[in-house]
Amino acid sequence: MADNIRQFPGAEIPDQTLSVEREPFGFCNHDKISLDGHARTVRCTKCDKVFDPFDFLKNEVRRLQDAWERHRDVRAKLTDMNDRVEALKKEEARLKGRIKTARAKVEPAIDVRNRNL
Ligand SMILES: [Zn+2]
Repeated sequence: MADNIRQFPGAEIPDQTLSVEREPFGFCNHDKISLDGHARTVRCTKCDKVFDPFDFLKNEVRRLQDAWERHRDVRAKLTDMNDRVEALKKEEARLKGRIKTARAKVEPAIDVRNRNL
């Protein structure tokens, strides 16, 4: 940098003092669990973490309860949607019938044999 050029005062970037902690490399979801009946322990086979058996069971029960709750909600929504689809099908059939009737009134069928003219 030339001697006669100076950085504009106040333009310096302040030191970075904040950071977001990242998940540790190899973060484990504890997907594979091993139950040791002899030692009565619950252990993750991937990362070897040992869980308190009661806490583990409590978490699993909670997870299952949530899953059943969501399942019930989805079933209720599905039933509701099916009812609405059935109602729409009936409405469609009814409207098609009305269109057919209206067309028949506007464009009367032509008697090609001139019997009823
Ligand atoms: Zn694990």
